[in-house]
Amino acid sequence: MKNKNWLLYFILVGIFLGGICGWWFGARMTAVDWIGEIFLNALKMLVIPLIVSSLIVGIAGLGDITKVGKTGGITLFYFMTTTAFSVVIGLAMVNFMQPGKSVEMVSEMPEGVAAKKAVGITDILQSFISPNLIKSMVEMDILPLIIFALVFGGVLTTLGEKGKIVINFFDAVNQAIMKMVHLVLYLAPLGIFALIASKLGAAGGGDAFWMELLKIGKYAFTVIAALLLHALVVLPLVLWFFTRRNPITFFKGASAALMTAFSTASSSATLPVTIECAEENNQVSRRASLFVLPIGATVNMDGTAMYEAIAAIFIAQMIGMPLGFTEQVIIFVTATLAAIGAAGIPEAGLVTLIMVLQSVGLPLEGIGMLLSIDWFLDRCRTTVNVWGDSIGAAVVDQLEEQYVEGG
Ligand code: ASP
Repeated sequence: MKNKNWLLYFILVGIFLGGICGWWFGARMTAVDWIGEIFLNALKMLVIPLIVSSLIVGIAGLGDITKVGKTGGITLFYFMTTTAFSVVIGLAMVNFMQPGKSVEMVSEMPEGVAAKKAVGITDILQSFISPNLIKSMVEMDILPLIIFALVFGGVLTTLGEKGKIVINFFDAVNQAIMKMVHLVLYLAPLGIFALIASKLGAAGGGDAFWMELLKIGKYAFTVIAALLLHALVVLPLVLWFFTRRNPITFFKGASAALMTAFSTASSSATLPVTIECAEENNQVSRRASLFVLPIGATVNMDGTAMYEAIAAIFIAQMIGMPLGFTEQVIIFVTATLAAIGAAGIPEAGLVTLIMVLQSVGLPLEGIGMLLSIDWFLDRCRTTVNVWGDSIGAAVVDQLEEQYVEGG
C-alpha cells in the first residue's frame, strides 16, 4: 500500500510538471513525445490479451447462464441509466448556459468528416460483428472482440472438464497480464508527464491554449461544469446509494486510473490500470471487474454521451436553429447510441458526433469549431468515462452479490 501511495504522488507530480512544462516551453516539449508514446504503447500492448482473457474468465466466473443473464442485465441497466442521466445533465446545462448564442460559426468542413458521412445506427450495429478477429485485434477494434469473448467464454462453461482447461489457461494469461500492468505502472509518472507536456506543447503552449479557451470559453466551461456535476455529485451518490462505500476513499483508489485516462484520452488504453485499481485498491471482486470493466471501457461512456449532446446543441445555438422538445429527445437518444458506438480511443467522440448532428439536420461544419479545443475536452470526458466504469464495477459487484449469488 505504501508503495502505491508513492506511485500516486509521483503520478500527481508528473501531471503537474507536465502541465507547467507544456505551458511554458510550448512546442519545444514535443521533444519528449516519444517517452509518452512508449508508456501509451506499453499499455495498449496489454489491452487485447487483457480484454479477451478478462471476459472469458469473467463470464466463466459468473457461473451458469441464468446468472450471466442477470448480471449482464444489471450491468446494462447501470450503463444505460447513468449514461441517460449524464445526457440529461448535459442537455439541461447547455440549454441553461446558452454557450453558442453569441458565437459566430466560422469554420470549414474539417478534413475527414465529409468522408465519414455514412456513420449511422446500422453502422454501429454492424460493427458488433467482425468477419476477421485478427484484423479487429490489429486495428484495436474492440466491440467485436467483446462479443466474441463473451460468447466463447459462455460456450466454454458448457463443455465440462475440457472447457475448464481452456478457462484455466485464460485465467493464467489474465494473471500474467495483470502482473505486467504492475510493471508498466512504474513508467506512469514519467509517461504521464511526457504525454501532457508534449500534447500541451503541440497545441501551442499555455498562451495558445488560453486563447482557444477564451474563444469558445463558455462552451468549454459548460462542458466541464456538466462533467463535474455528473462526476462529483451523481456518480458518487449512485455509488453510495447502492454500495454504501465512501466515494472519497473510492475516488482515491481509482485515482491512478483517472489520471491515466486524463493523460491518454483513451478508455481502452487505460483499461489495464482501471482493472488494477478496482481489484487492488477498491477491493471490487475479480469476477465483477473482469466482466464489467472491459465492456464498460468500450460501451459505457457517460462523458462522451454528455459531450455529444452539448456539442450538438451548441452548434444549433451558433447557427440560430431553434430546437424543440422532439429534436432534443432525438439528440438524447442518438448521443447515447453514439457514445456506445464510440471507440475508447482519443477523439472518437467527434466521429460519432456526425450521427447526432445528422439526426436533427445540423451542419457537420460545426465540428470544425470544436476541433481546436477537443484534445483537452476529450481528456476531461475520458476521465469521466473511466470514473463511470469504475463505479459501475462496484455497483454491479454489490448487486450481483445481493440478487444473483444470494438468489
Ligand atoms: N476518448 C474517449 C474515450 O476513450 C472517447 C471520446 O469521447 O472521444 O473514452
